[in-house]
Amino acid sequence: MGRRNANSQPAQSPARYLPFYRQHLNDNQQEILIAIKIIINRKTKMDTTEIFPRGQQLPNDWFSGNAFITPLVAKDKNNEFSAGSVTFEPKARTNWHIHPKGQVLIVTDGNGFYQEKGKPAQPIKKGDVVNIPENIEHWHGASLTNKMVHIAITNYKDDVQVTWLQPVTDEEYNSVN
Ligand code: MN
Repeated sequence: MGRRNANSQPAQSPARYLPFYRQHLNDNQQEILIAIKIIINRKTKMDTTEIFPRGQQLPNDWFSGNAFITPLVAKDKNNEFSAGSVTFEPKARTNWHIHPKGQVLIVTDGNGFYQEKGKPAQPIKKGDVVNIPENIEHWHGASLTNKMVHIAITNYKDDVQVTWLQPVTDEEYNSVN
């Protein structure tokens, strides 16, 4: 037919890519269907890569390595918590810390670890939910080789939601990986 696509390969009949019941459509109709399919696929890909932007880098006073936060919900007259999306690059993790009224983590991408003091580290991955009790010393972060993204929902007790402690040493971190 003389038509060529962007790669200068001879154009294939669009009918080849469509279910048989659509083959009675004319060429233009089939081209339109294919265009719609391409747009839907692109949109789906965009939606599955990142839910929220990476956001602002978190300070190394409280985090080892590169960690970032996008705030999602601030404490207000109804909500006694804040929520944010936290991205940990590989090797990044929180310091040991305590939440006086607990915290919920919803892992939205990648994989990493959650560890309570004195217990084995738990591997966590996309789709996992961790309900962290109050006053439990713990840390969370990425694995050595993969990033980890979680939404953190952190309750307040009065005006305090976290007490930061010492960093997770390389020895502690390497031993769980
Ligand atoms: Mn925590």
